Amino acid sequence: MEFRDLKKQYAVMKEEIDLAVAEVISSANFISGTQVRKLEEQLAEYVGVKYCITCANGTDAISLALRIWGVGEGDAVFVPDFTFFSSGECPAFARATPIFVDVDDRTYNMDPDRLERAVCKVKAEGKYNAKAIIAVDLFGLPADYDRIQSICKKYDLLLLEDGAQGFGGSIRGRKACSFGDISTTSFFPAKPLGCYGDGGAIFTDREDWAELLRSYCVHGKAGNDKYNNIRIGVNSRLDTIQAAVLLPKLKAFREYELDCVNQVASWYTSSLKNGDLILPEIVSEYSSSWAQYTVQLPKYANRSAVQARLKAAGIPSMVYYNRPMHMQGAFAGTDSAKADCPVTDYICGRVLSLPMHPYLSEEEVWKVSRNLKKALIEE
Ligand SMILES: *Cc1c(COP(=O)(O)O)cnc(C)c1O
Repeated sequence: MEFRDLKKQYAVMKEEIDLAVAEVISSANFISGTQVRKLEEQLAEYVGVKYCITCANGTDAISLALRIWGVGEGDAVFVPDFTFFSSGECPAFARATPIFVDVDDRTYNMDPDRLERAVCKVKAEGKYNAKAIIAVDLFGLPADYDRIQSICKKYDLLLLEDGAQGFGGSIRGRKACSFGDISTTSFFPAKPLGCYGDGGAIFTDREDWAELLRSYCVHGKAGNDKYNNIRIGVNSRLDTIQAAVLLPKLKAFREYELDCVNQVASWYTSSLKNGDLILPEIVSEYSSSWAQYTVQLPKYANRSAVQARLKAAGIPSMVYYNRPMHMQGAFAGTDSAKADCPVTDYICGRVLSLPMHPYLSEEEVWKVSRNLKKALIEE
């Protein structure tokens, strides 16, 4: 069994993907081919925002957003403590100070009450300028944007939605990657919508920001003239080959893959409930794109031993994440390390992510569940 079965996905879509890649190679339009614009149009339409700008990866997408907002030294950016490193790395790379905020122990997303307290504390201390919030849609579930957006309004903060794992999720039918002033995603192969290498995208409704982003992505070019450089930018583009792979993949994602992962999640939930595990909770009116199906093991369980037993039965599992952001070595000695995040400290020791992808069968899900329960009994 694979943790995320990209080989099976390719077997299903081989004909379309091979043809799409061959077309790019024979046309030799490797950079900024027509497939890139076509993909951007389809992504913007799917997400429900006016502009989509693709780029080289999800980390660049975040950095570019912070760049056009002028986030830098002296600014505080609020980031959940429980996330992939990029969410906090990008503001730190921009020389701002990430302020890590604890998460909700059931949704795993930023806790709005703790966020508001952190914002007030930064404002009261006056050492940093409270500038932006990076909310993360962890494991596929959108963050609590009703609350987060109102906190942004109240304290005049910019909102960046890091939807690297959230693409496809929604709140009351409104899609992830549409909740931020700018939203970003990643097409890293294992994400809900993945390409065959690195890739990313940025979403916004603001035309002036879309224009700036397109400029910064290509060496600060002026409009369509890439040899007239009016800003210091970067080289961050999505390859035409990746766009060509993503077009049929987006179609499959919309037509059936998103439904399939939701089916897999409900099989997990029905086969694992009534046990000692804490299962992922999807709040009403929210839907997840299930980047991960993550459970919390009971206190008595030894996670490595459970993983070893699963592995012996041919079942891969992963720990996302085993270290709070504020404990990462890169932040040692900085104000970012001073975060008080007891929930994250606790869940980092308890979470376990199970195989999750659209091509898992009901039998495979039951096999994982049976073996996981058995591994706990053996504790
Ligand atoms: C994967 C991920 C990123 C970074 O995406 P890359 O394309 O790998 O650079 C950022 N934030 C979160 C939450 C992620 O999971």
